[in-house]
Amino acid sequence: MVRCSMTSERPSTLAQLRVAVTAGRVRRRSVRDEIRENLIAKLRSRQDIFPGIIGYEETVVPQIVNAVLSRHNFILLGLRGQAKSRILRALADLLDEEIPVVPGCEIHDDPLAPLCSACRARVRTEGDALPVAWLPRQARYVEKLATPDVTIADMIGDLDPIKAARSGLQLSDELTMHYGLLPRANRGIFAINELPDLAGKIQVGLFNILQEGDVQIKGYPVRLPLDVLLVFSANPEDYTARGKIITPLKDRIGSEIRTHYPATRQHAMAITAQEAWVSRAHTDGEGIVVPAFVREVVEEVAFQARQDSKIDKRSGVSQRLPISLLENVVSNAERRALLANETPIVPRITDVYAALPAITGKFELEYEGELRGADNVARDIIRGAVGNVFTGYFATADVQQVTEWFDLGGTLQVDDTIDASRAPRRSRGCGT
Ligand SMILES: [Zn+2]
Repeated sequence: MVRCSMTSERPSTLAQLRVAVTAGRVRRRSVRDEIRENLIAKLRSRQDIFPGIIGYEETVVPQIVNAVLSRHNFILLGLRGQAKSRILRALADLLDEEIPVVPGCEIHDDPLAPLCSACRARVRTEGDALPVAWLPRQARYVEKLATPDVTIADMIGDLDPIKAARSGLQLSDELTMHYGLLPRANRGIFAINELPDLAGKIQVGLFNILQEGDVQIKGYPVRLPLDVLLVFSANPEDYTARGKIITPLKDRIGSEIRTHYPATRQHAMAITAQEAWVSRAHTDGEGIVVPAFVREVVEEVAFQARQDSKIDKRSGVSQRLPISLLENVVSNAERRALLANETPIVPRITDVYAALPAITGKFELEYEGELRGADNVARDIIRGAVGNVFTGYFATADVQQVTEWFDLGGTLQVDDTIDASRAPRRSRGCGT
């Protein structure tokens, strides 16, 4: 790809920009073409399109690639904690490093074809000497969480009658407009999270901008032929519910892509290992050693919770549950180690029970679950998770003697405060 690589080579006036464009050193193209062409370059050089997104390589990523290649506006449908926002933010990496803009323009006008009348006036008066500013890609990604109280003024803009009166302009002149988020995302990406929470009126406004390049504000038509890639996220049930999304807007969303929770425990563990804050600085110690079976139990808690009939399936169980849980498990072990002055810090199964506060707030209970209580539901889930992981290690082991010993009244104290030297253990095995 041809582009100016050195800052000093960048055109700094309209005249220089025109020369650079003619010579092919600066590309002029729509946002969708820009993202598409940059994606094609990444695909050709076999680069990772979404670094750090694990478990979507064969499912979600190919569909997003297809949507971008098709130049579609698209929506990610999925439950919470499925990396939707993260993927949308990563789209900014597909933009050019920087683009030329008219300095100070709120809607990032192209100096060679400005939309707003203020910039057009500047081009007329300053001509070829008009300065050119360079906008970095991070500034071209705008994100908004939709809520029912979001207004047209927030999203698209508002007309200012006082400004119009003072400057002797018509109210419909865009010089009298306060721009909302969408025009400020011009020549970039605008992401709206939880789209179904947006009032119908705003959806109509979005659709008009997409379809016709104009919108009505306070009854006045305002022309805004913006160049924006619109991407959305939503909970699948909300999105498909009748009446939540106006049909013409739905029609304009080219691709509908379903996200999902990690399909395997291995994927889930890799995500949690990447996201959880575990490697903590202990200058005097040997650090923190998290046994694999503890990581597996932490992950299995999320898998079990997602299947549990006492937990609301529509709101889901976020991948943030195992991430917070692992952090809390490590903290409980850290607390014990600090009190007992021992190293290294090694979490054990009882630390998972001690980490209930990282679990109970992460799911919504069904009626049956409410009756049982969040703490009890969480304990049941941990018990199921430990059982499942244990079976994976010891499916064929003969534990008859052990169960007999307990059946005859044998007891073993394994709590989360007892230090490692006094904790019962075996040379090999699951730590009990
Ligand atoms: Zn402008």
